[in-house]
Order: sequence, then structure tokens, then C-alpha cells
Amino acid sequence: MGRAFVYVILGGGVAAGYAALEFTKKGVSHGELCIISEEPVAPYERPALSKGFLLPEAPARLPAFHTCVGANEERLTPKWYKEHGIELILGTRVKSADVRRKTLLTAAGETISYKFLIIATGARALKLEEFGVSGSDAENVCYLRDLADATRLVDVMQTSTGGNAVVIGGGYVGMECAASLVINKINVSMVFPEAHCMGRLFTPKIASHYEEFYKSKGVNFVKGTVLSSFAFNPEGKVNFSLFCSVSGVYLKDGSYLPADLVVVGIGIRPNTSLFEGQLTLEKGGIKVNGRLQSSNSSVYAVGDVASFPVKIFGEIRRLEHVDAARKSARHAVSAILEPEKTPEFDYLPFFYSRVFSLSWQFYGDNVGEAVYFGDFSGTSFGAYWVNKGHLVGSFLEGGSKEEYEAIAKVTRLKPVIEDLSELERQGLGFVVAL
Ligand code: FAD
Ligand code: NDP
Repeated sequence: MGRAFVYVILGGGVAAGYAALEFTKKGVSHGELCIISEEPVAPYERPALSKGFLLPEAPARLPAFHTCVGANEERLTPKWYKEHGIELILGTRVKSADVRRKTLLTAAGETISYKFLIIATGARALKLEEFGVSGSDAENVCYLRDLADATRLVDVMQTSTGGNAVVIGGGYVGMECAASLVINKINVSMVFPEAHCMGRLFTPKIASHYEEFYKSKGVNFVKGTVLSSFAFNPEGKVNFSLFCSVSGVYLKDGSYLPADLVVVGIGIRPNTSLFEGQLTLEKGGIKVNGRLQSSNSSVYAVGDVASFPVKIFGEIRRLEHVDAARKSARHAVSAILEPEKTPEFDYLPFFYSRVFSLSWQFYGDNVGEAVYFGDFSGTSFGAYWVNKGHLVGSFLEGGSKEEYEAIAKVTRLKPVIEDLSELERQGLGFVVAL
């Protein structure tokens, strides 16, 4: 049993949706393209899962956030795919791939062949078991990667109003979920190993602003320690059922926190396993060139799973953010369909988050010396990073659309900075003036 397509997108997340739109813009014939996804729904904007989806009032639900609404483009519903002759093979896991034969084998036993493959398999959430802690199967321990996870988290939140939640991890999932839990009237303790939240991006000074804000909303921070084990509700212990529930967490520092709900956000691993031994990997992802093409010329990789050359910094990086997924996907399609017209991918890293009334954007790289500006006790402030005499990164909280555009534009130019104190004095005025 088998089907053949000219183009196959493996994975049905953010990158797949944006690639599909680009295929139709550049011209693809009915029946030429298919998307295979383990998820049972058409591609959607994953960032909604930790934001609008978790709101207690008027929460975001599909079909409202199918791609590509996040970039103010068309909303691609299942009907749209049908009308454009794009085959959506949903609820289907690919269990093996053979890049020499150009075939994929699904868990249902179907062989799907391609001329061009775009790998858009994203990543999976790291499990506590990978750090030696068991209990992830408990009914009130939640991860957040896909729609099924988010739906489960909403169910558990609804039965935990007024109760206690422990959030494990101080990264993106931890910060965004903690804010959503507070909005759902649940008491939150955040536990993470670092000295401050968002350790890989924020400096201590930036982090302290957000931590103070969270504390003003009642969030309790437990830093510099990790989970050692769960306490289980008595019936769980007796039944030893898969669906037992936890009643609290024991931490390595010896303390105990009661919990009606635990959210775990301790990082991800890219889904590369189908291609290990077949394609070159680097930095945990599938290594691609400036055309998003892997070590096999018929195979492209985009989004979280791809390690691509970030031209502006002259090195290969793997990024785990939605803007990179959208843009790398579009670029790969362009490189496949219009190879002559498509230049090397030239991407400026862009990350953002929105929690409570706060909203920040970051462009570039957070290396070198941080130069701060604005009012850190107010609503708008930021930082530049200056490395080897050049401005290489910019962070802004509470900016206007024009100000965000200005920091992006100037960061891309990597201007020479001779005097750090002058940059500090000019603050946001520096980018607005350029
Ligand atoms: P994904 O969107 O993860 O899609 C991968 C798809 O591949 C999935 O549908 C998966 O089921 C499928 N798949 C994997 N393996 C197989 C297989 N073997 N067979 C079939 N299908 C398979 N980034 C930001 O910049 N800003 C944000 O605010 C933000 N919020 C986020 C909130 C949450 C809760 C999460 C989880 C991520 C968030 N991100 C955010 C990150 C962003 O969503 C990702 O960078 C983006 O989704 C990556 O897109 P992708 O297409 O590479 O992977
Ligand atoms: P992150 O990598 O952002 O953060 C993981 C955090 O967990 C880090 O602080 C990490 O510390 C910590 N950690 C690691 N191991 C443990 C442990 N055993 N116990 C406690 N803490 C631990 O991953 P997330 O899970 O938060 O996010 C998953 C993915 O979703 C990421 O790709 C992220 O980009 C994406 N996402 C992006 C959003 C956005 O861009 N706005 C919003 C939501 C998700 P350390 O650094 O020391 O390893």
C-alpha cells in the first residue's frame, strides 16, 4: 500500500502551515503536496497554547488559531487544504524514513514516497524521567507541547481553582504557564535550578523586573533547586494505577510544596530520530545550508528541528521560536520551487513573550556587555548587547510597534558602538534616530 507525492511535509505544526501557504503562493498543482502529522488537527499557531488557550474567559479555540493568523495571513482551515488540493494526512505518525529510497513509512503501514521532503517535525518536551524523577504519568502532572497537552492542562486547571500549582522550570513554558495559572486563580510556586528566571536570555537585572512583577501577583519563587520526587495521593499509592495523582513535590533542598497541579517546562529535544545515521546533525538538529537543504539534496529541514547558518553571526544555530519556523519554512519552499531566484537565508533571530500586561521582544544575540535603558521600575525599559564594538542584540519591554521595528532594524545593521555610556544615555533614542 502506498502513495506518491512530489512534495511531502513531514510534521503538521507551525512550519508546515507556513510552508503550505508558500507552496500555494508560488504555484503547486492539486495532488502534488501532502502534509503528514501525528496530530489530529490541521497546522495551528502553537504559541496560542500557553496564552489565549489557557484564559478562563473567552479562551482561544480552534479553528480560530490555525496557521497563518499569527503573521496576519490567511487562516488555513481543513477546507482550505481541500480547496487547494493539498492532502492532509492527520493523526498519522511516520515511524521510519529512508532518504536513499525517498520513502516514509507510517505507523499504519503505508509507504509514502516523495521527490522533495521538508522535515518539520519540531520537538518533544523533555520528561522528568530523563532527569531521574518518576511520576509524569500522574493525572495532574502536565506538560505543554501540543493541543492534547493544552486541553488536559485546561481540564486540570478547572478542578484546581483556589488550589496550589507547582511550576517546574523557569523558561518560556514556566513563565507563560505561571501567569496563566495566576489568571485562573491558582496559587503558584515556580521551581528552577538557576539563580533567576529565563536564564538563557535574561540578565539578572531584566529577570528581577519580571520576578518582582510575578511576586506582586502572588507567585512564590523557589530558586537554585530541582524536584527530587513527587508525593502521591493515598489512593494512587494503593491502586498503583497509571492514573494516580500527585499531592505535592519534594525538592532537592529538602523542602516540600503541596500541589493540586504540576506543570513541567524543562526544555525540549528536536525530533531528529527518524534521520539519525542518514542525515548530518549539528547542535542537536538536522544540519542544513542557507537553502535549508540537508546533507541529502532532496531533503530540507525547517523550524525547531533545523540547525541552519545564521549569516549575521556567522555560525550554525538551532532556534526554538515561531518566527524562525515561519520564515525558514517559507524560505525552503522558495529554494525548492525557485532555486535561481532564492538567495541564502539571512535570518535575524527574534524571540518574544506576552504575559499579564507585559510584552517584550528580543532581536539578535545576547552576548557581550549589556547596556540598559529606560525605567526598570516603570512600564518600558530595555537593553542592548554590545560585543566586540558592535551592537548585536536588543531587548525591549513595553515598546510600541514602531519602537520594536526600530530595534529590529538597527540590530540587523550591527552598528559600531564606541562609547557604551553614550549608548546608555541615548537609550531607545539611539535606534529611533538611526
Ligand atoms: P511544531 O510546531 O512543534 O510542529 C511539529 C509537528 O510535527 C507536530 O505536529 C508533531 O506532531 C509533528 N511530528 C513530529 N514527529 C512526527 C512524526 N514522526 N510523524 C508525524 N508527525 C510528526 N515561540 C515564539 O517565538 N513565541 C511564542 O510565544 C511561543 N509560544 C510557544 C508556546 C508553546 C506552548 C510552545 C510549545 C511553543 C511556543 N513557541 C513560541 C515555540 C514555537 O511554537 C515553535 O518554535 C514552533 O512551533 C516550531 O514549529 P515547527 O513546525 O518546527 O514544530
Ligand atoms: P526552556 O528551554 O525555555 O526552559 C527550560 C527551563 O527549565 C530552563 O530554565 C532550564 O534550566 C530548566 N530546567 C532544565 N532541567 C530542569 C530540571 N530538571 N528541573 C527544573 N528545571 C529544569 O524550555 P521550556 O520547556 O520552557 O519551553 C519549551 C519550548 O517551548 C522551547 O523551545 C521554547 O522556546 C518554546 N516556547 C517559547 C515561548 C516563547 O517564545 N514565548 C513560549 C513557550 C514555549 P537550564 O537553562 O539551566 O537548563
